[in-house]
Amino acid sequence: MSQELHHFIGGKLVAGQNKRFGNVYDPATGHITAQVPLASHDETLAAISAAEAAFPEWAATPVTARAQVMFQYRELLETHRNELADLITSEHGKITSDAKGSVSRGIEVVEFACGIPHLLKGDYSANVSKGIDIHDLRQPLGVCAGITPFNFPVMVPLWMFPLAIACGNTFVLKPSEKVPSSSLRLAELMKEAGLPDGVLNVINGDKETVDTLLEDSRVRALSFVGSTAIAKHIYATGCAFGKRIQALGGAKNHLVVMPDADIDKAIEALMGAGYGSAGERCMAISVAVAVGSAADTLVERLKTEVGNLTIGPGTDPDSNMGPLVTGDHRKRVENYVNVGVTEGAALVVDGRNLSLKGFEDGFFMGGCLFDHVSPNMRIYREEIFGPVLCIVRVPTYECALNLVNSHEYGNGTAVFTKDGNTARNFANDVQTGMVGINVPIPVPLSFHTFGGWKNSLFGSANMYGYEGVRFYSQLKTITSRWPGEIPWGADFTMPTSR
Ligand code: NAD
Repeated sequence: MSQELHHFIGGKLVAGQNKRFGNVYDPATGHITAQVPLASHDETLAAISAAEAAFPEWAATPVTARAQVMFQYRELLETHRNELADLITSEHGKITSDAKGSVSRGIEVVEFACGIPHLLKGDYSANVSKGIDIHDLRQPLGVCAGITPFNFPVMVPLWMFPLAIACGNTFVLKPSEKVPSSSLRLAELMKEAGLPDGVLNVINGDKETVDTLLEDSRVRALSFVGSTAIAKHIYATGCAFGKRIQALGGAKNHLVVMPDADIDKAIEALMGAGYGSAGERCMAISVAVAVGSAADTLVERLKTEVGNLTIGPGTDPDSNMGPLVTGDHRKRVENYVNVGVTEGAALVVDGRNLSLKGFEDGFFMGGCLFDHVSPNMRIYREEIFGPVLCIVRVPTYECALNLVNSHEYGNGTAVFTKDGNTARNFANDVQTGMVGINVPIPVPLSFHTFGGWKNSLFGSANMYGYEGVRFYSQLKTITSRWPGEIPWGADFTMPTSR
């Protein structure tokens, strides 16, 4: 029996009125576990109205009091870390240890938001002219919204609403309809932490909901994380409606293995970054660029390792990799493998047709490894978002750099080398937003920022860190003088201090 999920509006769970529902699956069994309501235009307006109504009081709440809510929330998230991780595994399928790690990375953003009194401090310049001072305020925008993808059901929402709310905004979150339960739980825990009703709302839905959020003039800023096609639509439409937009898109991350690299470390890195979370990470490595003599050893060793992956339900502590998120997504990934074979790449390990005893209806797929992939192939150009690693062989470092820089995506990349100059040049010259030097998945911590280049991010603001604070606040600069010792009169010329 599948349960019917709700929205979270004005501090309460609210049943869907729209009679449109989406299926939520347990990817390990393939069974439908819940029905998620897909909100209508009017239901989405109700969530925006709740956020609008809560804004004046929350914006006027002292910043130190807002920080206290964040401290409480941080404690509650720690207490409920395992419960949240279990919810992630039950709807996304990733292994529990990985799910726990992603919750922790989300909690780190809440920890950053606890410092909001410091982060919102403005500048002050005394006596810029005779008797005149200037100071800055960072003020909230109003209602902000977030639209999140299926692959990080807790972490990506936590990239958004804690900072937005700490800045004094109210928020409407539209999580992925494939993994809705953890966002509802995140909202309930926010209420338990002392957040007033209406400050955080969760509206479940699809395009109809998103378009309402994009077009409503009360939504002042919108954060999006998902695929590039939708990110472009969000950016173009949101900007046309006069909103601030940060829209993070897809990726095709390369890991360059130089001939001098520590090959053991490079293999370990490729296994974790290529097949962890079944490749459903925007920072997954999906292309290994083998430079010169690195290629043969790399392919031989990876062949064994990929063949030895332990694949099973995310709840089994022995699993390295769980199922894909839905049956449709598995079909899409399998289709890419078929395309790669047709295109002439060498399929060294074939993970199609994997069937697990007791989990025959689950969305499992084995790890796949392609050698001799060339840049004109679709499996190289397009984001597959599954456990499929492509090896491209190049003769020199320059070719490797050129390959990464010519790709339409620019989220993250990494180089494995023992040479400091190679690493330094790569970090300087590569065209991506995040770079790892002997680190395969260089996701920056919450006091830095997260964001890609090119078709991996539309807009000028990265997620979290100071970038997040600037995105969720507007700057006001006040120039003041007081009647007193310095006389003033009508100024008919541009005032200067000279
Ligand atoms: P998706 O683009 O299909 O969906 C993302 C969100 O957009 C969901 O909430 C969904 O309901 C909504 N949406 C889907 N179609 C829409 C439409 N036509 N109009 C309006 N809204 C729509 O992405 P996904 O499959 O959930 O997630 C995987 C993608 O997200 C991958 O491309 C991955 O690279 C990307 N991603 C990027 C980052 C990053 O930081 N750059 C992080 C995580 C995931």
